[in-house]
Amino acid sequence: MEIVILGAHNCESLNTRLVSLLIDQTIAIDAGGLTSSLSISAQQQIKAILITHHHFDHIRDLATFGMNAYMWGPINVYALDSVLGVISTHLLNDVLYPDFQQKPLPEKPSLKFCPLEPNKEAIIEGYRVLPLPVHHNVPTVGYWITSPDKKSLFYTGDTGSGCSSCWEVVLPELLITEVSVPNSLEMMAQASGHLSPRLLKEELLDFKRIRGYLPPIVTVHMSPHFEGEIREEVAQVAKELEAKITLGYEGMRIVL
Ligand SMILES: [Zn+2]
Ligand SMILES: [Zn+2]
Repeated sequence: MEIVILGAHNCESLNTRLVSLLIDQTIAIDAGGLTSSLSISAQQQIKAILITHHHFDHIRDLATFGMNAYMWGPINVYALDSVLGVISTHLLNDVLYPDFQQKPLPEKPSLKFCPLEPNKEAIIEGYRVLPLPVHHNVPTVGYWITSPDKKSLFYTGDTGSGCSSCWEVVLPELLITEVSVPNSLEMMAQASGHLSPRLLKEELLDFKRIRGYLPPIVTVHMSPHFEGEIREEVAQVAKELEAKITLGYEGMRIVL
C-alpha cells in the first residue's frame, strides 16, 4: 500500500495544502487539497473519494474535482449520509457551484454520492473500509482501510480526545492522525475537537495500553502558524513514548 500525503495542513498557503491523502493512486481520503496537488491524468486514476466530515478544509476540492471529472465521471464519493447531505445542500447545490450528482448529464454525472454507515465495513475498490466515529464538533469518522494484500492504515480525520473506542477495534500498521495546534493552545483544541501534542500523547498511551504496541504515527492538519512549536513538542512526545512520530508534509510518500 502506497500512501501519499497531498495536503498536511489546516490552512492553505504557497507551501501548505489542506488535508488530503491518496492511497495507491486510486482512493483519496478527504479532498481539501486534492486537485491542487495532482495533474489531470493523476486525477483521472482516482476511483473513489472518502470524506471524513463536512468541514470546508476537507471537502473544498470536491467542487474543483467535480468540474474536472465532467469528462470522465461518475466517481464515487463515500461519507456519512449527513455529510453528503451538507455537501449537496451547501456546496454542490447549483447555486454556489453545479450539482455534480446531476451534471453534466443525470445518467452520467461527475460524482455519485454513496452513504456509509458508521461501524459498518464496506468494500470499496477491493479495499476493506471501516468508518469509525471520532470526537469532533460535527459528525466525523476515521477510516480503517485494509488493502487486498492485507496492509492497513487508520486515519482518524479531525478528532479531539477520546479515541479509545477506535483503538479497541483497529490494528493498523500505520496511524495517521491530527495535531492542529501546540500545547499552549490546548484549550482551543479541546473546544474545537482537535489534538495538541500533549493530548496526542494521552491518546497514544491509551492505544498502547489497549493494543500492546504502537504503530508508526504520521501527523497531519498542523497549523502552519505554529509548526515549529508543534514539531518540537511532538518530538518530545515521541521520545517519552519511544514511538516513531513524524510530521506529515505535502508530497510525503509512505509504503506499507
Ligand atoms: Zn473539522
Ligand atoms: Zn479540518
